[in-house]
Amino acid sequence: MCRHLGWLGRETSASALVLDPPHGLRVQSYAPRRQKHGLMNADGWGVGFFDGATPRRWRSASPLWGDVSFESVAPALRSHCVVAAVRSATVGMPIEASATAPFTDGQWLLSHNGVVDRDALPSVSAAESICDSALLAALIFDRGLDALGETIVEVGAEDPDARLNIMAANGSRLLATTWGDTLSILRRDDGVVLASEPYDDQPGWQDVPDRHLVEVTAEHVTLTELNSTKGH
Ligand code: GLN
Repeated sequence: MCRHLGWLGRETSASALVLDPPHGLRVQSYAPRRQKHGLMNADGWGVGFFDGATPRRWRSASPLWGDVSFESVAPALRSHCVVAAVRSATVGMPIEASATAPFTDGQWLLSHNGVVDRDALPSVSAAESICDSALLAALIFDRGLDALGETIVEVGAEDPDARLNIMAANGSRLLATTWGDTLSILRRDDGVVLASEPYDDQPGWQDVPDRHLVEVTAEHVTLTELNSTKGH
């Protein structure tokens, strides 16, 4: 389904992360290389970034490849922490900017690559849209990002067909899960990229195994197995 990307490191531009790479999210919007579900990601896009501690978002329900306004402004959008996504809407979900990642609770930016049965989710206090991903984001915000792994294991137990790849950041931590779809890590001299698929063919990209939690901070990158039997 969707493709997403997270960045934590030195300040860089949205265009350097999303538009310029030869297989970045702009190209992944029409020609993803590792997408297991869906052919292209034409149902919208979102770029979220931290302006100091404040998350800001630019979202659209149109394809990223045709957005000339974003192309013009993206070189001037600079941040040390970014969460961006291109969307392939799940059948039955609304196609609108408010259903497009990244979602926010005012502190975190969060993207969901996957699908979940909305009836399998506990009720949540507030969601930006009736889209499955928006409801899942609201649940994760309710539970707190420190419990991200536990929440994914719990939702995965309730809906065994769910795919639950999450990307989330709060400006100093970048978190991601693999649960049914692809994720790669690139450690650069100036920071760390997590992405649904490599944005170029340079060496250094490492695939994350399925059912793992990744945490990136300024100091470290940690991978933890999500153990559905132990529930953590
Ligand atoms: N289920 C979500 C939606 O409809 C995410 C889909 C996806 O990962 N492509 O937007």
